[in-house]
Amino acid sequence: MVEKGIENYRKVLTTIQDNITLVAISKTKPEQDIEMLYQAGQRVFGENRAIELERKHDNLPKDIQWHMVGHIQRNKLKHITAYVDTIHSGDSMRLLKDIDKEANKHDRTINILLQIKIAAEDTKYGWDIETLLDLAKDDQFSSLNHIKIIGVMGMATFTDDKEQVRSEFRSLKSHFDSLKPYFDADFKEISMGMSGDYLIAIEEGATMVRLGSILFGARG
Ligand SMILES: *Cc1c(COP(=O)(O)O)cnc(C)c1O
Repeated sequence: MVEKGIENYRKVLTTIQDNITLVAISKTKPEQDIEMLYQAGQRVFGENRAIELERKHDNLPKDIQWHMVGHIQRNKLKHITAYVDTIHSGDSMRLLKDIDKEANKHDRTINILLQIKIAAEDTKYGWDIETLLDLAKDDQFSSLNHIKIIGVMGMATFTDDKEQVRSEFRSLKSHFDSLKPYFDADFKEISMGMSGDYLIAIEEGATMVRLGSILFGARG
């Protein structure tokens, strides 16, 4: 089982260029599964629930770089702000201000990706690009000194239509390009692509891919 898991991980790695960050999405999976990939060299892991992230952080090696990829309730923030490296789900100004405040308490800077709506499905979370551009033009992000906005994140529609998925990733890349002038040189990441669509995401310019089931098997 372990050998098969590691072999599978190595195979996935050969499909991802060195300059792309693989975030191994370990949500719902046991700590042993994370340890298996850790032994094989993986250091960046992502979760989508604050409490589960906290438990895994407490129990696992301290040089793991933890990413949060799911929507965060503001009252759960305190469980992760002392150690989380990157939050992919920066989806409201209120949340960003709260993260900034919490990070300040720990004298830290937390990396943030601005989550943008790109799917045709009605999704609850994420910004419209128009709103985001208005905020950026109005210089609304620059006073937040304990977060570093490093790019954008998006999720494509859950569909077999590969051309639709491709065009949604392409739109995220174009949103990234239109936002970039309003940020500094740290703004360089495009987090897009999951197990079913990451090869398309890479072709369309992803710098970070978030892979769960292809590494750890289907979630129950
Ligand atoms: C679960 C999840 C993933 C990984 O999905 P897989 O299809 O298992 O690769 C990626 N991103 C987010 C935001 C997720 O919630």
